[in-house]
Amino acid sequence: MNCPLCEGKLVRVKEPYSYGDLKLGVFEADKCAKCHEAFFTEEASDKIDAKAKQLGVWGLGKEGKLGYSGNSLIVRVPKEIAKFLELKEGKKVFIHPEGKKKLVVETD
Ligand SMILES: [Zn+2]
Repeated sequence: MNCPLCEGKLVRVKEPYSYGDLKLGVFEADKCAKCHEAFFTEEASDKIDAKAKQLGVWGLGKEGKLGYSGNSLIVRVPKEIAKFLELKEGKKVFIHPEGKKKLVVETD
């Protein structure tokens, strides 16, 4: 089997997988020797999903809408995400753009 992206040779490796800065573990993947893209095996993908569910990060992403409050734009944080990140009213966060399409909210 060759790389679907560049036709390079795929080599079976153990590849670490993270969800943001949360490390989910090391899983079997076919890695391209040319472009270094890793393709996790079907079995590894199932394990990654299971681990993500176990850690409570599964399906946390949600669509939201921006609102206005005075001069500030407000992003509503769904309660599952707030709970996972232990966000509470009054907690200090650092908000910064990452490129032109991504907003990052960091907590301690
Ligand atoms: Zn490739």
